[in-house]
Amino acid sequence: MAAASESVTLNGRHYRRPARPVVVVCIDGGDPAYLARGLADGIIPNIARFMRAGFAATATGTVPSFTCPNNMSIVTGAPAAVHGISGNFYLDPASGEAVVMTGPELLRSATVMAAFADAGAKVAAITAKDKLRRQLGKGLDLSRGNISFSSEKADQCTLAENGIEGVLERVGMPLPDMYSADLSLFVLEAGIRILERERPDLLYLSLTDYVQHKCAPGEAEADAFYRALDERFGRLAALGAVVALTADHGMNDKSKPDGSPNVIYLQDLLDAEFGPGDTKVICPITDHFVAHHGALGGFVRVYCRGGKATPAAVAALARALPGVEAAYEKAEVAARFELPLDREGDVAVIADAGTCIGAARADHDLSALAGHRLRTHGGVAEARVPFILSAPLNDAYAERAASGGLNSRDIFEFAVNGTA
Ligand SMILES: [Zn+2]
Repeated sequence: MAAASESVTLNGRHYRRPARPVVVVCIDGGDPAYLARGLADGIIPNIARFMRAGFAATATGTVPSFTCPNNMSIVTGAPAAVHGISGNFYLDPASGEAVVMTGPELLRSATVMAAFADAGAKVAAITAKDKLRRQLGKGLDLSRGNISFSSEKADQCTLAENGIEGVLERVGMPLPDMYSADLSLFVLEAGIRILERERPDLLYLSLTDYVQHKCAPGEAEADAFYRALDERFGRLAALGAVVALTADHGMNDKSKPDGSPNVIYLQDLLDAEFGPGDTKVICPITDHFVAHHGALGGFVRVYCRGGKATPAAVAALARALPGVEAAYEKAEVAARFELPLDREGDVAVIADAGTCIGAARADHDLSALAGHRLRTHGGVAEARVPFILSAPLNDAYAERAASGGLNSRDIFEFAVNGTA
């Protein structure tokens, strides 16, 4: 670090200056089941070594177990009640409009990266999907060697916008397709190049869950992807970095025995009970990238707008449905999962591991699933994630880990302060 600051404080956590580069990787959709299978099959030797020689646990993530809320929890070290990002998508109560929740103005906290950069550290954040880039790069001064870009738009990087240019040439890969394993592998290859040359103090690499939505553990494409991830994790560690691995959420098969999606179309059921237009179901998994899950997830919010349906009546109807694990009214869901109250619906409905919840049947285009079983996430059942460090914990952090309650939002602190 160039500047004199010996430590950084953010959201009540104190971070020391890292003695060597720290790389935190968010394996999007990286359910612990993929690691269990990969370890059993012997196809992820570097991760196996980290787990043996460093530290490994299963942690809890943010509920709803979606991409944006969890990435923001990881990079702020705080719950969604603090950082404000409680879905990929929400209903703005002021306008009644559904809004994509990726604007930096919606993020209510600084990030660990920006805080370190302000203290004189060099940081880089690379994400697969461009939708995360502006929040990950929020407050980051890109004029001082810090870097923030997405592999989706790696061909458009400029020094002014991203702190880097000529990314395709440096990485030596063509621009990856939006729906590909390469979108993630590009992030890791870019991270390796940047670690080699710029040697940032902190590097955050956020992947995409294209493969996990499509393939169960043990399927050939999932195995190939995990072998490829593992090889790159090994190279990051070989460059002298502490490598920390977690996930934004897990992934479950939500299909019926015949292979068709196991969906509760909640809007249709509510319309039948309370009349069309009385309630509005919002699926916060929605983004511009829905072909692999049809915007179906394990957590939806219901807004009571017409005056007929009360939150209590909606919650009672939802709770009685097979496949619904829980339904909570606004204040309870916000308290239980540390969510921002002003961005909650009137009722939150959470599916069990084998079920997903949609709005109206007509709202979901499942044609792109064509032949694939529906695998998705969003509920409590998908909020268990890996928490792996390539280096062993010091005594203080080993003690904290042993006391339980590890959350994926602890990973920057553990990687920076906890590795000897
Ligand atoms: Zn995700």
